[in-house]
Amino acid sequence: MNTMKRVSVVIPVYNEVQNIEPLYRKLQELARTTPSVSEFLFVDDGSTDGTWQALVSLRERDAHARAIRLRRNFGQTAAMACGIDHARGEVIVTMDGDLQNDPSDIPRLVAKLDEGFDVVSGWRYRRQDRLWTRRIPSTVANRLIGLLTGVKVHDYGCSLKAYRAEVIRQTPLYAELHRFIPALSTMTGALIGELKVAHHARTFGQTKYNLWRTWKVALDMVTVSVLLKFALRPLRFFGFVALGVLVPAGIALARAWQGFVVPSSPGPVVLAGAACLGLWLAGHLLIVGCVAELCRATAHADPQRSLVPEGA
Ligand code: UDP
Ligand code: MG
Repeated sequence: MNTMKRVSVVIPVYNEVQNIEPLYRKLQELARTTPSVSEFLFVDDGSTDGTWQALVSLRERDAHARAIRLRRNFGQTAAMACGIDHARGEVIVTMDGDLQNDPSDIPRLVAKLDEGFDVVSGWRYRRQDRLWTRRIPSTVANRLIGLLTGVKVHDYGCSLKAYRAEVIRQTPLYAELHRFIPALSTMTGALIGELKVAHHARTFGQTKYNLWRTWKVALDMVTVSVLLKFALRPLRFFGFVALGVLVPAGIALARAWQGFVVPSSPGPVVLAGAACLGLWLAGHLLIVGCVAELCRATAHADPQRSLVPEGA
């Protein structure tokens, strides 16, 4: 393992009061055996059960422990993104704070990064969660995400992952997109690796998710595949959809024209109406695409930069 790089362990926690102390002991052991582990950064995602007090007590006892508190519950992705922004290490490892991930896997993940990967994703190959509500939806989701994004990882949902800090900081992370980091980070050209990791059943506290998550993940898959393919050229996305409308509209127009020229042909007025509707819709889509291009092009533009300095 490369001892030059500092490793920050980022842990989002929401109402995990009973897990903080046992997890801290495992992290403490990790820092003792792996000196490159320089900090454990807990992000309290608006807990109401005394988690924050437990974190403050850790912070007072141990210089390795850092704690940030969010004003309310923003969700796991936001908490993770906050930890990533504030981490000081050149390598960032994210993990759950409920003892389901095992800190003893961290040295292997970091060693794999040193092989040249930018992201190393944990694979809970012996997952200790319910079959019907967890493992089956997750297997289907992993296959679908792989198909849609072209990034084949066995276990997108595993929070235990290691990243080069500069790569993860360039990856768009909002809403509930943390599950898609391996796919999203390919936008930055990241090389993705995978490693089998341990997974334990939850002993204390409860999961913060229910079956609704499956539907939300399905919608997020659409978001991510659009982001991956069209984030830089939104007009192309709208252009493809417009093409799907333009082709039938063109056929309807041709048939309508034929109907007007050959009076015995049926329904030229209906066909002409449908063609007009299709053409209007395609035009509308292209205009929306142009607006999206303008937003994209000006999103990061600094208006000051385009000003010509006086006397130039
Ligand atoms: N979590 C969070 N904010 C939330 C929900 C969850 O910070 O709004 C944390 C939670 O405390 C845990 C991790 O995210 O450390 C994973 O959550 P959970 O164990 O409920 O997910 P599951 O393992 O059931 O998928
Ligand atoms: Mg869990």
